[in-house]
Amino acid sequence: MKEKIEKAFEQHFGGKGTLYVAPGRFNLIGEHTDYNGGFVFPGAIDKLMMADIRPNGTDKVRVYSLDLNDNAEFGLNEADAPEQSWARYIFGVCREILKRGGKVEGFDATFAGNVPLGAGLSSSAALESCFANALNDLFNDNSIDKFELARIGQSTEHNYCGVNCGIMDQFASVFGKKDHLMRLDCRSMEFEYFPFKPVGHRLVLVDSRVKHELADSPYNKRRASCERVAKRLGIETLRDATMEMLDAIKTDITAEDYFRAKFVIEEKDRVLAVCDALVAGDYDTVGRCMYETHKGLSKDYEVSCEELDYLNDIAKECGVTGSRIMGGGFGGCTVNLVKEELYDNFIKTVKDKFNARYGHEPKIYPVIVSDGARRYEDQ
Ligand code: ADP
Ligand code: MG
Repeated sequence: MKEKIEKAFEQHFGGKGTLYVAPGRFNLIGEHTDYNGGFVFPGAIDKLMMADIRPNGTDKVRVYSLDLNDNAEFGLNEADAPEQSWARYIFGVCREILKRGGKVEGFDATFAGNVPLGAGLSSSAALESCFANALNDLFNDNSIDKFELARIGQSTEHNYCGVNCGIMDQFASVFGKKDHLMRLDCRSMEFEYFPFKPVGHRLVLVDSRVKHELADSPYNKRRASCERVAKRLGIETLRDATMEMLDAIKTDITAEDYFRAKFVIEEKDRVLAVCDALVAGDYDTVGRCMYETHKGLSKDYEVSCEELDYLNDIAKECGVTGSRIMGGGFGGCTVNLVKEELYDNFIKTVKDKFNARYGHEPKIYPVIVSDGARRYEDQ
């Protein structure tokens, strides 16, 4: 990838720029917890966006996307937004830095990535973090702090790409650290690194390649349930709820609201249990919690689907240590923690069985927990 990007730079602009990379991310556990003030637990992965960048002394940005074989050229004022959606991520990052009083001038760039698009590994956050970090280094002496870089990516999605996302993806892409996951407290925005060294295991994402678009925005309905229960309990978010508190109002709320809140409360406790297990190097407990999360997402929160439940069943049958839906649900990936010696059989079985039932193979993405956004030469 590096050679191709450098070669494209030479061809388009002549000479050489500076290389920057930023990763996609996965989330071990902590699903649907962000909007409830709870914890998420992501890590950066070894799938990256890479860009070769050089200031060009003008007020224009010229970018070439190798993967899409497409060029964009734009100015740095609000009215200069490019048409292509991929270029709006880069334009948005420039604009968000400028809005915060940072400096961005014209530059030339070529870039490419191996984060699969739209598979739930956040290729968009990788793209934003790669450019945000690069422009911080090239034009701002790295004076913008890392959390602000993540916010710049998030605001880019909100203001230029029409995606109303949380902070987790950009946070993980910026702060990622080899052999560590990050527990991010979505209420205080404090975070802590935990060691993740699953020696003898592999981490693999299995992408069902299905996405069910449901009519009555299930996401908003889940959020509304959580908010109703929190209000009934007299607290701001379910972060402060316990099962005792929930059981005490069980008869006053609908069964649906009860099970939604139950999942959120249990999921918060599971994240904390996984942290303890990681410190103790107890990956069996980590795996058990992953299965419990899947069950909760499927039965109580009801955001699974037939295909994802099938992937989970196959994982269980193959003796996979832990497996669960990753992301919002209704399709996408499962994340799996698999013992080395069971890995090949699991991959073969999951491909064959899924294909036999649904007529296509799932995509397999092995991942390794890696460092966050950085200059390529720094690694
Ligand atoms: P994801 O879940 O992977 O973040 P999104 O739909 O949020 O999916 O973002 C995907 C978009 O990000 C693409 O449509 C494209 O505009 C941009 N993008 C991601 N990866 C690349 C790439 N390698 N080259 C060009 N654009 C990319
Ligand atoms: Mg995205």
